[in-house]
Amino acid sequence: MTKTCTVAIPTDMRDVKIRNYINGEWVAPTTGQYLKNFNPATGQEIAPIPDSNSTDIDHAVRAAKAAFPMWSAMPGVDRAAIMNCVADLIDQNCATLAALESQDQGKTVTSAATIDIPKCAAYFRQFAKYVTEGIRETESSVKLGCTMSSISKVVPSVQKATTQHVASGVAALITPWNFPLLMVCEKLAPCIAVGNTCVVKPTEITSVTTYLLTHILQAAGMPKGVVNIVFGSGVNAGEPLVKHRDVRLVSFTGGCVTGAKIGSLAGGLFKRVSLELGGKSPSLIFSDCNLEHAVTTHIRGAFQNQGEICIAAARQYVQRGVYEKFLEMFRKQVRQEICVGDPSNPKTFYGPVSSKQHLEKVTSYIRLAQEEGAKVEFLTNPNDPAVLNVSTDGRMTIKGFENGYFVAPTLITNIKQSSRVVQEEIFGPVVCVMPFDTEEEGIQLANDTQYGLAATVWSEDQNKLMRVMRQLNSGSVWGNGWLAWDDCMPFGGMGCSGTTREHGPWSLEFYTETKALYTHV
Ligand code: NAD
Repeated sequence: MTKTCTVAIPTDMRDVKIRNYINGEWVAPTTGQYLKNFNPATGQEIAPIPDSNSTDIDHAVRAAKAAFPMWSAMPGVDRAAIMNCVADLIDQNCATLAALESQDQGKTVTSAATIDIPKCAAYFRQFAKYVTEGIRETESSVKLGCTMSSISKVVPSVQKATTQHVASGVAALITPWNFPLLMVCEKLAPCIAVGNTCVVKPTEITSVTTYLLTHILQAAGMPKGVVNIVFGSGVNAGEPLVKHRDVRLVSFTGGCVTGAKIGSLAGGLFKRVSLELGGKSPSLIFSDCNLEHAVTTHIRGAFQNQGEICIAAARQYVQRGVYEKFLEMFRKQVRQEICVGDPSNPKTFYGPVSSKQHLEKVTSYIRLAQEEGAKVEFLTNPNDPAVLNVSTDGRMTIKGFENGYFVAPTLITNIKQSSRVVQEEIFGPVVCVMPFDTEEEGIQLANDTQYGLAATVWSEDQNKLMRVMRQLNSGSVWGNGWLAWDDCMPFGGMGCSGTTREHGPWSLEFYTETKALYTHV
């Protein structure tokens, strides 16, 4: 039964200093230092972030280690009751969490209120349910004729074999900035559901809602030390966490370069590691598809969440017969329907990119495309009075938000497949659209990447659709759609996009040690 719970969380973070949450208490970083934090829509400072170091991490890991015997031994139903209460409190505070997520990250309030925050609550409920119902253990009875070479004698026996899933210990959960609270909850829910305790190190770019989560955890009755949250940079806080000797498991979502570093550090110390990394997802749009549906979906795929989605449809290959038509429809619809600006306005499709540093990165790719002679078009709405200016590298000046980090919806064509603009993850509202001729060529172009996170294929021919989907080297492939989500399906990438699968049963697998128990009868 879900218990009734309530909480009062801060509703305005302008004057709040974020603090670490260790052993159930809010504490300042031992360094006494804070990192600056900005609202990307206004460029104004909000809620400074603790610049924590290895001492803070050590305190947090010790607290998690001390809480592990109690939490891992607690009956699943009791853990689930606390998690369901966390879910209820997230739902109750959805409006505040969404508004503050928007102020910290730049995404629209509508998007945070309808996608990010409800999904956070859903993750806690999903894994509370799993743990209440019991983690599936496989059992078999087999008659074995077992030859032991050293004895060279056959020992026949009937054997009962059972798998057991046990909590690993203290987990390190390290997350990125594009879906700040969602990424934390996606890891936290399965991690603690199965009995692990943890230290979360959210990104220093967007820490606000994870700080608010600490209030929710406490109000929900989460025992001290089960969830510890340490804020700070990757180098000063993230790396000591990965290296800490008492951390048994590391779940990381972020960029490929950081992932490679964390993978080698953690792997070398024999920790379980999950790497969920970047992407440059291809779409193959065949001439026999429903073009209208494909165009609408690919506009969303390119620009939703400012293009800051790991599975964004960033490389769109369109069969030559409909290439020009696709571009014509794409340009027209973006200009008419994609409103960029105030993230709190329900009509806004996307807001500013997450930080000044990221604005520089995104616009540097636009300049590179221009230098390489590609065709670069900024598809802003000519009738939108809020758009005061678009600079030559795509920066937008929005009325009332003149210091914000806005980038125009950017369409790049006539670009070489080998260009860094096509090959590297830009992670902004910038899309490359290129033609292809045959099915073989399309598959070859789509797979010509170091990444392998997601892909989409568009055709009305069901046989072709499935044939092509099966040949794409991506962890998730959609046919005639994009981002239709099932949290019971595996999610993860190939190549530079990652090494593991999470979500649903795959998360339970990752966050537990699986033992094989054999009983001879
Ligand atoms: P990032 O790699 O810069 O940082 C991610 C996290 O790692 C942050 O918390 C950061 O502080 C920490 N970190 C940095 N250096 C570290 C180190 N040496 N040791 C330990 N921790 C360290 O990534 P980002 O810019 O925050 O996020 C964007 C990236 O995340 C994109 O590449 C995007 O595709 C990817 N992403 C992937 C998924 C997925 O599920 N595959 C989902 C969302 C985002």
